[in-house]
Amino acid sequence: MAGNRTLTMIKPGAVKNGHIGAILNDIAAGGFKIVALKLTQLTKDKAGEFYAVHKERPFYGELVDFMSSGPIVAAILEKDNAVADFRTLIGATNPADAAPGTIRAKYAKSIGENAVHGSDSDENAAIEGAFHFSGTETF
Ligand code: UDP
Ligand code: MG
Repeated sequence: MAGNRTLTMIKPGAVKNGHIGAILNDIAAGGFKIVALKLTQLTKDKAGEFYAVHKERPFYGELVDFMSSGPIVAAILEKDNAVADFRTLIGATNPADAAPGTIRAKYAKSIGENAVHGSDSDENAAIEGAFHFSGTETF
């Protein structure tokens, strides 16, 4: 059975460009309930740890630099089939391929600065949720 939680981050570019409110509104309109939420900034080390699975990829250095370049919004979202439904709401990794109306189609600048993160599996959603939030910060 599909899990009911996923982890998102509104990335530094979208925060800097003033899209926090609009993105949270799209998330709520998509039927997701926010069960954890914070404005925070990742250190380079923490960004590297979060994206460790991509360590050998050519874009890893730029990704870590970008993700630690300014504040982000981290949130745990709840909905039936959360992981897959959230990835549908945000659209493809490359905004050029993202379906019209998706969060990345509307707010992403490029594949590197693509507005939001979404977990890719229930297992990673749990790991990523615990990465950002303690038990007392999660409802
Ligand atoms: N990324 C990039 N260049 C690429 C592929 C990915 O800069 O060719 C960045 C992009 O910001 C993406 C993140 O690395 O969101 C993680 O990549 P992944 O393939 O996991 O995409 P996602 O799950 O975020 O859609
Ligand atoms: Mg991914």
